[in-house]
Amino acid sequence: MARVRKPVVEVRRSQRRRRTVSAYRDGERVVVLIPDRFSRAEETEWVERMLARLAAREERLQHTDAELLLRARRLTMRYLADYADLVVPQSVRWVTNQNGRWGSCTPDDATIRISHRIQEMPDWVIDYVLLHELAHLVVPSHNTRFWELVNRFPKAERARGYLEGVSAVFAGAASGEHAVHP
Ligand SMILES: [Zn+2]
Repeated sequence: MARVRKPVVEVRRSQRRRRTVSAYRDGERVVVLIPDRFSRAEETEWVERMLARLAAREERLQHTDAELLLRARRLTMRYLADYADLVVPQSVRWVTNQNGRWGSCTPDDATIRISHRIQEMPDWVIDYVLLHELAHLVVPSHNTRFWELVNRFPKAERARGYLEGVSAVFAGAASGEHAVHP
């Protein structure tokens, strides 16, 4: 469905910019960066184009978040069914600001964030990260009981190995305790 509410647009002209146009959301506003030499007509055309592009991108993200939540429910029923009354996340979202973490969970408000960096990884790795965070809704810390829950996932060990391998590539990640929250 089309968005009814039109965002407030702030156009910024840049003399350094030659041909590239970019746009990003800043709270309620959308900032569109255009080359200084653009005419008013070009500005209007590009603002429309960038707003459409941004809306499409956000719709895709929302769609993916919905899929992520469904996936979380499936994993919960499959591996944590005996804790289904505890594993009720308020939100499960893809995020781009995890700063080296694959996923994180805030048990206080039952929110889970999964790094967009794992989107291209195999399904069983995504499932592992998601299940790991879901298990934190039952046990917040990394104690024996927590690992018993996570290890119900048949490929848990393999997924940890996969993520550690990827982590080693990122600078600083080696200092982490384990791959999901380095
Ligand atoms: Zn953890």
